[in-house]
Amino acid sequence: MSNYTEEINRRRTFAIISHPDAGKTTLTEKFLLYGGAINLAGSVKGKATARHAVSDWMQIEKDRGISVTSSVLQFEYDGYCINILDTPGHQDFSEDTYRTLMAADSAVMVIDASKGVEAQTRKLFKVCVMRKIPIFTFINKMDREALDTFELLDDIEKELGIATCPINWPIGSGKGFQGVYDREKKCVIAYSDTEKGTKEGTSIEIPIQDEEHLKELIGEDAADKLLGEVELLDGASAEFDLDEVQKGNLTPVCFGSALTNFGVEIFLKHFLKMTTTPLPRKADIGLINPTEHEFSAFVFKIQANMNKAHRDRIAFMRICSGKFDANMEVRHVQGNKVMRLSQPQQIMADERKILNEAYAGDIIGVFDPGIFSIGDTLCMPKEKFQYEGIPTFAPEHFARVRQVDTMKRKQFVKGVEQIAQEGAIQIFQEFNTGLEEIIVGVVGVLQFDVLKYRLENEYNVEIRLENLPYEHIRWIENKDEIDLAKLSGTSDMKKVKDMKGNPLLLFVNSWSIGMTLDRNKGLVLTEFGRN
Ligand code: GDP
Repeated sequence: MSNYTEEINRRRTFAIISHPDAGKTTLTEKFLLYGGAINLAGSVKGKATARHAVSDWMQIEKDRGISVTSSVLQFEYDGYCINILDTPGHQDFSEDTYRTLMAADSAVMVIDASKGVEAQTRKLFKVCVMRKIPIFTFINKMDREALDTFELLDDIEKELGIATCPINWPIGSGKGFQGVYDREKKCVIAYSDTEKGTKEGTSIEIPIQDEEHLKELIGEDAADKLLGEVELLDGASAEFDLDEVQKGNLTPVCFGSALTNFGVEIFLKHFLKMTTTPLPRKADIGLINPTEHEFSAFVFKIQANMNKAHRDRIAFMRICSGKFDANMEVRHVQGNKVMRLSQPQQIMADERKILNEAYAGDIIGVFDPGIFSIGDTLCMPKEKFQYEGIPTFAPEHFARVRQVDTMKRKQFVKGVEQIAQEGAIQIFQEFNTGLEEIIVGVVGVLQFDVLKYRLENEYNVEIRLENLPYEHIRWIENKDEIDLAKLSGTSDMKKVKDMKGNPLLLFVNSWSIGMTLDRNKGLVLTEFGRN
């Protein structure tokens, strides 16, 4: 089995997270440039045109200039095989991001130097913390006026509750941005705007002890300020400790400018040195080690109709152990079936490449005829274990969905069911209505637009949405002991069922939940759906 150990150990699989506009797309493109995966990173144009050309696909994204879905990019750099999981920046799609983070071994957090920690970063960060994966920070846009560096670090520590360790230190910002001081090499690397779309640039390095040249290079004032800050920094910041980084307690921080391509390669190099090889994963038979176990994977994302011309559905799986070979048979544990995966492929930018083999750490997309669900496990035919499931998040917005043309009932039902299977929406039914009227729950309201858009465009079904006032959902944990008909809640409570027939309750506010629990002794409610 050890012949693939080397392949697995050179893999690095990480997600990039950021608040929209912090520069995630730009940074990703610059990474790819170093890997030679795409030739000219600058070929991705401004917002109005195909800004997210590398990884976005849906019209809604283009119209709104947001990234809705996440995709996967693979490239080689310096002997490493790197898998980047791109995540949607918009907060309404955070559930998709949560799932993507489940497939990553570490995360890169991009922060806008003029803004510090923003709402979306905070939310996503919590998921990283939950998973205890290492987080690496890139503070971007140093070529623009930035917040004070100490303040930025303080902000990360306070807002996110993680210690920071600057790997380098910026010299000025905006028009006065002159480069960074590398704390390990103890030298100053001067900033020069590289030619757009290339990775070439002249880089000047001067040891910090060489005060004379330093002052010549960055000016007397900047040099004095830098020397003062470095002294302060060496005394005040957390000691670098790789172990703490890998446990997710300490985040290494680099400064740079993705747009002008300064500091990107320095960051990439440091990052690759510190991040982990594919991590073992929890399954019901214990931890599965990537190099000591034959092929296994889990589905973390299902995406339909990525390309309208294909009208297909792709299940994305993260390989957790061993080697995948396109010809081999695998067991789909939840479906209890042994099969060959159909058209295994790697989604590279907007190209697809059919794969013959892949290793633990890699992400593959397989054609899905509608059999996979999020969280499903695949393993060798002789085995039958399951990876820990992916938690679903309780929807916070609800709407009643009606089809306009009731003749299209079949397409309507198929459409909402498929979109629900992908995890974009959750669907519920009232006890006394048929399937032409359902209740949809979403984590972010933009999902309603996506649902409407996709039903119209992919299933040719027009719908009407009526917003409902509910904000909380609870499953009945002890449903077998509770007589639903006798359950007495508040007047604004609604009883519904999920597609598996499990009863659940919708509430307008948390006060009603408390009231209902008080009125029905023995009732046990839970926030998360169970399969
Ligand atoms: P995303 O939403 O996080 O993917 O952000 P983008 O990568 O699309 O960047 C948002 C905007 O910020 C774009 O107009 C970029 O050109 C710009 N941008 C990205 N990085 C930098 C940078 O380092 N400096 C400056 N000045 N602008 C940047």
